[in-house]
Amino acid sequence: MTPRFFEAEGIIHLHSRYSDGSGEVPEIMKDATGSLLDFVLFTDHNTLRPKKDGWEGWYNQTLALFGCELNDRNDQNHLLSFGIDDISPKHKTASGYIDEVVDAGGICFLAHPHEKRSNLPQYPPYPWTDWSSDRFTGMEIWNHMSDWMEGLTDENKYQRFVHPLRSLKFPPEETLQKWDELNRDRLVVGIGGSDCHAIEQEIMGVTVQVFPYKVAFRAIRTHVLLEKPLSRDLSAEENASLIYSALKAGRCFFVNHYRGHGKGFRFWFEGAATQLQMGDRHPAGSFLAKIFIPEVRTIRLLKDGKVISSQQETDHLVVPVTGPGVYRTEILFGDTGWIFSNPITLI
Ligand SMILES: [Zn+2]
Ligand SMILES: [Zn+2]
Repeated sequence: MTPRFFEAEGIIHLHSRYSDGSGEVPEIMKDATGSLLDFVLFTDHNTLRPKKDGWEGWYNQTLALFGCELNDRNDQNHLLSFGIDDISPKHKTASGYIDEVVDAGGICFLAHPHEKRSNLPQYPPYPWTDWSSDRFTGMEIWNHMSDWMEGLTDENKYQRFVHPLRSLKFPPEETLQKWDELNRDRLVVGIGGSDCHAIEQEIMGVTVQVFPYKVAFRAIRTHVLLEKPLSRDLSAEENASLIYSALKAGRCFFVNHYRGHGKGFRFWFEGAATQLQMGDRHPAGSFLAKIFIPEVRTIRLLKDGKVISSQQETDHLVVPVTGPGVYRTEILFGDTGWIFSNPITLI
């Protein structure tokens, strides 16, 4: 039986004028509403000021929530943090911030963990380097801004400014590998991030916004599977906790929205007496892996990073699985990544 969940889709990781983004919260939320998003999770650098200023809440049908991106005391190791009311000033190590967020009951994700940006000396990369903590909730597996900047060269610059979505192909191989590896020991949740700043830049004498919010909202979205629907009848805290608990449990997947909507995607394991959802860890046994997608595309099932089953031109895949391993699925549009699930792990 198809699992009963309420799906909501949104943008995680973006910047407003509260840090280094160019948009004001109401302007950004106007674009979010126009893009039919269910939620937006803002992450300005090292500040929860917008939350304190009262910007959290509904903008038409879209919910705005505010976490932050915590740079460590050396401005390195960016940590996306949610569900917290306060943060200490910027003097902690990366693992110190992980402890602070988790101890306060929040959730946190390593931002752009393998960022490279080798062609842009003025924008150095900020990869994650402090792997001493194993308390973080998850990792940003695909970051639109990093992906776009990493592939930027003098030759393709113009093309990339004009078509900022077309170059999105696949999350970094290194990040996918690390994600699979970490999931052998514990659940590490994968999310997709935007990192939109809508920075204003002069190109050929004209000031243009690199990635207007509206454009970025059509790219990488994270979908969450909720126990009950988001609603204006619930308080902001209750709505936030529905989203944060789905993210914490790994009941989520991320979508390259430019290649298709992705709504209705489902991946679960069906056993004789149990059903396992994304994020679950369960003793090994006989299960049927079930994958359903909203359009006819290529589905592949991976175990510990290796493809174990793949089918083109299909809208579902049902495969028996038994042994221990980290199982997740990737849906492809041609050779481009479209939907990425969180893992189900048999131990
Ligand atoms: Zn960052
Ligand atoms: Zn950022």
